[in-house]
Amino acid sequence: MISQDCLHDALSYGKCFTGLGQPADYIPELARVNKHQLGVSIVKLDQEILNEGDYDRPFTIQSISKLVSLILALHDRGGEYLFQDKVGVEPTGDPFNSIIKLETKTRPFNPFINAGAITVASCIDGRDTEERFARFLTYIRHLCNNESICLNENVYLSEKSTGDRNRALAYYLKASGILEGDVEDCLDFYFRMCSVDVTALDIANLSAVLANHGTNPFTGETLIEPSCAKALRALMLTCGMYDGSGRFAMKVGFPAKSGVGGGIAAVVVDQMGIGVYGPALDEKGNSIGGIKILEYLAKKLDCSLF
Ligand code: GLU
Repeated sequence: MISQDCLHDALSYGKCFTGLGQPADYIPELARVNKHQLGVSIVKLDQEILNEGDYDRPFTIQSISKLVSLILALHDRGGEYLFQDKVGVEPTGDPFNSIIKLETKTRPFNPFINAGAITVASCIDGRDTEERFARFLTYIRHLCNNESICLNENVYLSEKSTGDRNRALAYYLKASGILEGDVEDCLDFYFRMCSVDVTALDIANLSAVLANHGTNPFTGETLIEPSCAKALRALMLTCGMYDGSGRFAMKVGFPAKSGVGGGIAAVVVDQMGIGVYGPALDEKGNSIGGIKILEYLAKKLDCSLF
């Protein structure tokens, strides 16, 4: 049973490690944040919410948005088509933005590496980028129980003006017949979805829906098909922490998805959703203090799947 004291101790433990990491530095908006920020939220399925530290400080969702876009694409195209023709479901062992396997493999390894996520983004229905992004925003607001979630315009413009590596991935995927539609439209949507501001509490709410097999624990509304929630949790466990997923499974042992903005969404099935935020990243791109908080909680609450 998690108590406020236990969460407080988890945060204090995580704080010992923030000095060892660095914020992402590929755009100035991410590089200039205080790397010692750290916050955590827990949303339990019995509707109790516990928060500590910088749990309500906004940060950009970055790769955690890949969960949301994947649910939309699975809804629009179905798992059979998406996971057979467009992206695989296997970990790569390569960094998230790696380009190396694109020439030798027919499709990206999984939907959470950038090549896979850009492909998935191209499979979301909508007349244009505006409509696709409006769908994304409406949906993430429901998943996070927060109607005020919106785009961080400065981060979006920076992502767009510096995103040449993602552009290279997308054009290669288009040339290989994997990416659908217009490349620049798809990239524009991808840069926007990565640039949405959220808090640790927001992503704890999203994680709680996944922990509750797709149903919002507060409203009882089914937001994700149970089979889709199950597929997401499996992918989070095997591929959610970049090329640090194996070590994370050993040390923590439940599904999680991180982003280079410093967030981690973590799922303790049938119990709770956890959201952490700490912008100091380890060498794999995962929040260093965030992982330590999750390690602490997994041990104290004995909630590793293994
Ligand atoms: N905007 C980042 C990129 O596409 C997201 C990466 C991440 O959070 O892993 O490079």
